[in-house]
Amino acid sequence: MRRDVFVRVWVGFVLILLAVVSVQADAIPNIDPVSTYDDESALVDVFFDAIKQGRIGLVRLIDGNLEDGSIVVFGATYPTFEIDGGRYGFVSVPMDQAMRTYEAQATFIYEDGSEKTLSFPLEVISGGFIQQSVDIPGIDEEILKPEVEATELAQIFGIASDLAEPPLWDENGFQLWTNREFTSPFGAVRLFNSTYETLHTGWDYPASTGESMQSIATGRVMFAGHLPIRGNYVLVDHGAGIYSGYAHMSVVFVTQGQEIYAGQRLGRVGSTGRSSSAHAHIEMIAHGNWVDVADFLLLYRQSQSAG
Ligand SMILES: [Zn+2]
Repeated sequence: MRRDVFVRVWVGFVLILLAVVSVQADAIPNIDPVSTYDDESALVDVFFDAIKQGRIGLVRLIDGNLEDGSIVVFGATYPTFEIDGGRYGFVSVPMDQAMRTYEAQATFIYEDGSEKTLSFPLEVISGGFIQQSVDIPGIDEEILKPEVEATELAQIFGIASDLAEPPLWDENGFQLWTNREFTSPFGAVRLFNSTYETLHTGWDYPASTGESMQSIATGRVMFAGHLPIRGNYVLVDHGAGIYSGYAHMSVVFVTQGQEIYAGQRLGRVGSTGRSSSAHAHIEMIAHGNWVDVADFLLLYRQSQSAG
């Protein structure tokens, strides 16, 4: 009997180990590249035609004996992470990046210390950001001050700055816990009370106070607390320089440093901070740029429908 239990425990342990290994292998869905550039055995697979301002693009570096690799474009360096023999990296385009074709450089770093650089074109097109007027009567004038916003953004970007970590998300990638439609879009240029203009850094969907807000992917809580504009806020690190933020909550259930799973409840919907009524606000940062949450959700939704 004891021996039976012992065997079962070991079988369970091995199954868990296999699950962990396969999770790593599937952190990026199996999709086909749009273009491929090569130099002898070195390949750069590009999974987009062009990238909109404020959006992400997936790139893969493939060669034998690769130790590391990176992509350099717009004066920024984007790291890569290893999955299944290839090195993947997300390029994130700043919302205000000028629209034109750039020369991107993929750097292959080999186990013997040698390097190779391969150039490829990367076109940036319009983010198509809309204009919105938002009126909040009786708003605290403090949260319409540019310096208050600048301080808050500096705090967030100071936290969301680790590019070296491998992905923390699993094969489920990034998923929204509700099928409610997003309403107010990412990137909208918002004019508050006809006086203060600012960019909408995420997506909103209508929700009632008390509804759950859940993490879109596995990760680690980097901030859980109150900010002047975002109100009760949680910032989650997903590894690989990718972070998600959840704003205006009535209550927060998690604490800084806590490891969380995809779909874990972070708090409840509210209307704290710069908000006119209860709603859910979700935003994402990739490599120090605000990026569209929808890109990550779509990447994993496509892979599900493709089987
Ligand atoms: Zn919002």
